[in-house]
Amino acid sequence: MIRIAVVGLGKIAHDQHLPTIQASSQFELVAVASPGAQSPGIPVFQNVEELLASGVAVDAVAMCQPPQLRFEAAASAIRAGKHVLLEKPPGATVKQVEVLTALATRGGTALFAAWHSRFAPAVERVRAWLATRRVQSIRIRWMEDVRVWHGGQQWIWDADGFGVFDPGINALSIITALLPDPIHIVDGTLEVPANRAAPIAAELHLRSAAGTPIEAVFDWRCAGAPVWDIEVITDAESLHLSQGGARLHIGGRECELESAGEYPQLYHRFSQLIAGRQIDADAAPLRLVAECFLRCGIKQVEPFHDAAG
Ligand code: NAP
Repeated sequence: MIRIAVVGLGKIAHDQHLPTIQASSQFELVAVASPGAQSPGIPVFQNVEELLASGVAVDAVAMCQPPQLRFEAAASAIRAGKHVLLEKPPGATVKQVEVLTALATRGGTALFAAWHSRFAPAVERVRAWLATRRVQSIRIRWMEDVRVWHGGQQWIWDADGFGVFDPGINALSIITALLPDPIHIVDGTLEVPANRAAPIAAELHLRSAAGTPIEAVFDWRCAGAPVWDIEVITDAESLHLSQGGARLHIGGRECELESAGEYPQLYHRFSQLIAGRQIDADAAPLRLVAECFLRCGIKQVEPFHDAAG
């Protein structure tokens, strides 16, 4: 059994990490660390430093705190010889991911940038299907209501909180897994509310090295059901991946998909990396986001207010 601690007990830890670990035959939850955490039956710490100083025997740590807080915590854990899983995005900057990779390489520990959307049911099927076809264009629509999906999360509006790229980076993690060649940003527009430091919407024009145009719209002002869709036009049929990769239509016909679930697969992959002391820390989606902030124009839009202000 791999003894694991979860750091940052917020929405994703409660929704996915804790239930997945509980159901796993490979991992055993031995501690949690989070400022407001309560977890009967296991040691609870305020943060990763307290956890590491405690002497509780831990092999691995899952980092689920906001991305602004992840780098120092992950670096401390790696220096202490722990295997580390990084929730997405794996850092606030690409350089942070490179430094963590260097630390894990030197220390011989496993490091996993856990792009959960790459484990969505349709993604591997689509990747294999596209391998024998020519992609002509891609259209991404990633639209949701921020009040519903990120209510009360003030960190997400900070300068390095990613704004609408917090969900949008999931779409980028999928297309960077689907296409064999690198993707770059051509130009685009980021819409930033006058009272916030991060974008509420983005319109992006990207291109693959093969010249495939990729259009993306990310928008947090979408009331009603979320839209997490990717349409791929090929020289054969076109395909439509929806619900973040949970559903797939090819040529208008729905495909049956089987999946063990994103997070069970993600933890299985982490266990494999731990067994081999390996690193899987692809920063390609994060690099694209960083490029967007360099290449895109900023348009100030009306202030955004939620329950917190
Ligand atoms: P969240 O609900 O705001 O949770 C973050 C938690 O981090 C907070 O509950 C807070 O704990 C804790 N925290 C704050 N400072 C800390 C510190 N110094 N040490 C340890 N923990 C600390 O955010 P989230 O939605 O779970 O997102 C966290 C990360 O997961 C983000 O990078 C996000 O992109 C990613 N993610 C989220 C989802 C999702 O559906 N929400 C899905 C996939 C990935 P206390 O409550 O104890 O103060």
